[in-house]
Amino acid sequence: MVESLAAGPLRPLADLVQGLNTSAVPIQRAQEILAQWLTPVETVEQLSLRTCRGRILATDIRSPIDVPQHDNSAMDGWAIRSADLASDGTTRLRAVDGAAWAGRPWSGTLAKGQCLRIFTGAVMPAGADTVIAQEFSHLEQRLSDSNEALTDILFDPGQEPGQNRRLAGEDLRRGEVALVAGTRLGPAHLGLAASLGLAELPIRRRLRVALLSTGDELRSIGEALGPGEIYDSNRFTLSAMLEQLGLDLIDLGVVRDDPIALETQLRRGAAAADVIVSSGGVSVGEADFTRSVLARIGEVAFWTVAMRPGRPFALGRVGPAVYFGLPGNPVAVMVTFLFLVRDALERMSGALLTPRFPLKVRSAHPLRKRKGRTEYQRAIVRQGVNGDPEAHPTGQQGSGVLSSMARANAMIVLQHDQGDVREGEFVDAFLFDGLL
Ligand code: AMP
Ligand code: MG
Repeated sequence: MVESLAAGPLRPLADLVQGLNTSAVPIQRAQEILAQWLTPVETVEQLSLRTCRGRILATDIRSPIDVPQHDNSAMDGWAIRSADLASDGTTRLRAVDGAAWAGRPWSGTLAKGQCLRIFTGAVMPAGADTVIAQEFSHLEQRLSDSNEALTDILFDPGQEPGQNRRLAGEDLRRGEVALVAGTRLGPAHLGLAASLGLAELPIRRRLRVALLSTGDELRSIGEALGPGEIYDSNRFTLSAMLEQLGLDLIDLGVVRDDPIALETQLRRGAAAADVIVSSGGVSVGEADFTRSVLARIGEVAFWTVAMRPGRPFALGRVGPAVYFGLPGNPVAVMVTFLFLVRDALERMSGALLTPRFPLKVRSAHPLRKRKGRTEYQRAIVRQGVNGDPEAHPTGQQGSGVLSSMARANAMIVLQHDQGDVREGEFVDAFLFDGLL
């Protein structure tokens, strides 16, 4: 359920978008183009296991050993030979001296009619193929005719040959792929690597992303707001989302609407980063300005993506750095990032894209939807009276209204060809948990 990765150097963007109707690009088409264009960072570093959490594995890892290495017991109990099991009724076997412990194998061979005390994780003794849990066993001690102390174990009926035995290699066979290239390493992966005795893993270097906001009206926190001025919030939402992807961030701050200033910062970004992400300056009123700068120092394509919010979107490059020009409106920034840019950055990081599945939930209200574009609505998904989840849009859906985004816990996605939604109709909803 994972996609393969594109490989090879960046092609000229112009070749890729030839013939594209840039005034109404469906979001799926935009995603496909990005998938074709972008390639993962190539540098790989060997990192010690402890520093690999959240990082992207660069190559497949094959198991150097069988896991487990030996047949062993899954229970505390008695190791027996299945051939000794009574075909019906109780089985009586003679306990031999000693025991098999985890890490301390028993060196003998179990003979016919014998059983051996065994503990979880202990190597199965030679001759034995089955373990009976101790709760099904009963001890009987007596003296033999020659006054020798004997211990017999009586086993309840109903035991199966081969039970409670873990087979060598049942988890992983030597040479088998244990971890797949592109995996974002989490606790289970790190534990697995440790169980193979691997001290280091090959890890792709972190993608470096330079971030800037554009606009004469933007002020930084701590500055007083003049008439018509606003605080730059996009850099905060964007850096938070970028950090969650485990990327290295270079903050280029706020850039005035001035060609020289923009060019200077874009060049700085290209020298230091693999990707430049900007917000603002790509809407109809301002695109010409950004276009002229980028055309001079790189390459750029302006798209109107058939989505709402988030229509204007610029894609390009400055030297070898990929450029994503996001809209200025704060909610449009988040939506374009989550549904367009995020996967692109994952690809460039060398990560396999794990498919994200929407929940199918009933909409608690009718929703207006225009066919021919994908629409995103902020919503609260909660349990309805009958116990099923239902989606409540969070009111004001204007693309500048960040407060309704902050109140939401999910995004309703109304698909490209979908029309108006009736109350109670199922819609796709992505919970922010896992998305944000
Ligand atoms: P633009 O795409 O530059 O025309 O911006 C569209 C809207 O988003 C305008 O109302 C801008 O003031 C607003 N905006 C642009 N950049 C930011 C930012 N960094 N933080 C908050 N709002 C912004
Ligand atoms: Mg602007």
